[in-house]
Amino acid sequence: MFHPVNTKISFPELENEIIRFWKDRNIFQKSLHNRTGSPQFTMYDGPPTANGKPGIHHVLSRVYKDIIPRYRTMKGSYVPRKAGWDTHGLPVELEIEKKLKFTSKADIENYGVAQFNKLCRESVFTYLKEWDSLTERIGFWIDLEHPYITLENSYIESCWWAIKELWDKGLVYHGYKVTPHCPRCGTSLSSHEVALGYRDDTVDPSVYIKFKVIDDSARKIVQNVAGDTKAMLRELGQKSVYFLAWTTTPWTLPGNTALAVSPELEYSVLKNENEYLILASARVMPVGFEGYTAVGTVQGNDLAGMAYEPLFNPHSFNVERRRFDKNTGFPVQSASKDNPLSYQVIAADFVSMEDGTGIVHVAPAFGEVDFKAGEENELNFVQNVDLDGNITGTYPFAGKFVKKADPLIIEDLSSRGLLYRRETITHTYPFCWRCDAPLLYYAKRSWYIRTTAKKQELIDGNATINWYPDH
Ligand SMILES: [Zn+2]
Repeated sequence: MFHPVNTKISFPELENEIIRFWKDRNIFQKSLHNRTGSPQFTMYDGPPTANGKPGIHHVLSRVYKDIIPRYRTMKGSYVPRKAGWDTHGLPVELEIEKKLKFTSKADIENYGVAQFNKLCRESVFTYLKEWDSLTERIGFWIDLEHPYITLENSYIESCWWAIKELWDKGLVYHGYKVTPHCPRCGTSLSSHEVALGYRDDTVDPSVYIKFKVIDDSARKIVQNVAGDTKAMLRELGQKSVYFLAWTTTPWTLPGNTALAVSPELEYSVLKNENEYLILASARVMPVGFEGYTAVGTVQGNDLAGMAYEPLFNPHSFNVERRRFDKNTGFPVQSASKDNPLSYQVIAADFVSMEDGTGIVHVAPAFGEVDFKAGEENELNFVQNVDLDGNITGTYPFAGKFVKKADPLIIEDLSSRGLLYRRETITHTYPFCWRCDAPLLYYAKRSWYIRTTAKKQELIDGNATINWYPDH
């Protein structure tokens, strides 16, 4: 038997007909009803946010979320599918902040949190109609009439319930860690978020800073210098000896509390008519020292433990100085107002000869490696920046945003004869993917969930999952 086929068929119209058929006869509901009592197969829908229009990439994920439940239903399972809407989080808040032309968290507080939340609540369903019609048009079977919505109290209570369960199991703790912090959003970013915001054409200052060695340590260093040190010994009273270090973030310099050297490497002592400089021998040529002559060399090992003057004594600028304590761990202990104050050179394995001077400026408040070095060596801890990214205390550049403070800090050091050279560098630096603010690596107290306690269970669980694509 042959039935003639219409060659002028409209596929979109054909699809609409089928959708109408499904809708009129409640086919989706029937497919569930017919399987009541059968073994359940669960599909969790990671909910989209309806304050943005759906895009073609949403079609892709929705097709997967449709195909597998349909297949399972056809194989005899009961597969309830509940739609969801993600109404929480920074994307929503940022949308409203942009609309109101806000630039900081303080703007929200001045405006009123309740009123701000109201606008957020209204905004989250802006494109609900578009989402619903896309969902229907692509034939995605899911219960759109009874969705779960993350702003509903029943949902929020479930989240608190989950946190309480974690708390009761001892998996929630108050930690102190260095995290990439957005000073505008006022929040830490995950490593995945940081990866979204790297810019490789960022221009920053590149400065070589002189750290004055205290007299007693200068004498000890001279004793270990291989070379003709007679003149150096004679001149110690009149000429200062400096460690030379390099940084692209001058705003971290008031937080400097140590210098790190590589114990196995050789360091050079250079002199001109005014001063002595110490840096790694391998970095003398790349950095360039016109007008200086070499006096001799000294092992990194012999520099460890030597003391130098702080660039900015925190006590002179009304900033608290704390100390890492190995026994009690964090929080760091408050230290008394020592005057004079000196910091020490430490031996470390993270000193690189790729750039800089082979003497690394360490500010435990602003870097993961620095923080760890602080814990291991029980260093001082000086936090000279607040969570909005502004310099605290009574420094001449206090109150300025860190990047705006950079040139003022360089000027200040230059006026005191502590700047060897200033240049600029074009390098890769992370910015906030939401708001474009430069991220600050910042040591702060936060709540953490001890996921590492469940690491093996997670790995074992993953091993039982069918992954596509394989990994
Ligand atoms: Zn941000």
